[in-house]
Amino acid sequence: MPELPEVETTKNELLPHIVGHRITGITLLWDGIVRQPSIEEFCSRLIGQRITELVRRGKYLILGLTSNEVLIIHLKMTGSLLLKPASAEPDKYTRAILHLDKETRLHFRDPRKLGVMWLVEDKNAIVGKLGPEPLEDGFTPQVLSQRLNKRTAPIKALLCDQTFIAGIGNMYADEALFAARIHPLRLGKSLSQDEVERLHSAIRQVLWSAIGYKGASVDTYLRPGGELGTAHFQFQVAHYLSGRLCPVCGTPIERIPIRNRGSYFCPKCQPL
Ligand SMILES: [Zn+2]
Repeated sequence: MPELPEVETTKNELLPHIVGHRITGITLLWDGIVRQPSIEEFCSRLIGQRITELVRRGKYLILGLTSNEVLIIHLKMTGSLLLKPASAEPDKYTRAILHLDKETRLHFRDPRKLGVMWLVEDKNAIVGKLGPEPLEDGFTPQVLSQRLNKRTAPIKALLCDQTFIAGIGNMYADEALFAARIHPLRLGKSLSQDEVERLHSAIRQVLWSAIGYKGASVDTYLRPGGELGTAHFQFQVAHYLSGRLCPVCGTPIERIPIRNRGSYFCPKCQPL
């Protein structure tokens, strides 16, 4: 959390307000948010540059700059990027502020201080190893099938592996597996062609739906204007509440740990 739909929403809603604008200053309230280069270089190389584009890759935001360098931002578990007027005071969780021309500021709010920024010449130094984008045309059932071939990890772990497929985390993996009626512990290579096609379609449907609802504010995620996303109201099994029954068959939803994360599923709709 935030996953692809939350980062995509952040990108979509920031884009008209920051692309074409110049970075006029930086306030760092938590130095640990800058991973690369040094704080001094980060600030001196960034100030004065204009933001030429904003794209998403997996859970990363990539800001193109006039120097052809890129500013890459990862929100990690609890980050949000908020647009504020220059007069707005940062709240206690604001870790960095990009000052933009036209009196706009971009506040990087991050309660758990896990978010990261990199300023690099080649974006592939950071995002080069990511797997395919699930919403792009090139991600077909055949591509998913080839990537699952010989994989002996549980399908839930594969879906959360950013080098296997980009942008999916715990919430949307659980939702996609429920929609595809596949048990989270099934091994990647064991999926039939029919199951691969169901999973491919479920991944896209779950992600597009969540983007339509502007992401899920189950924890600290906020849209750039400070509003909540509402995708979590559509969740069938993710972020299960105690005692919840499967919305399809009424069986109690179960939780099992997979790679240290809780996985929620219906044992009847998703048999092993
Ligand atoms: Zn069920």
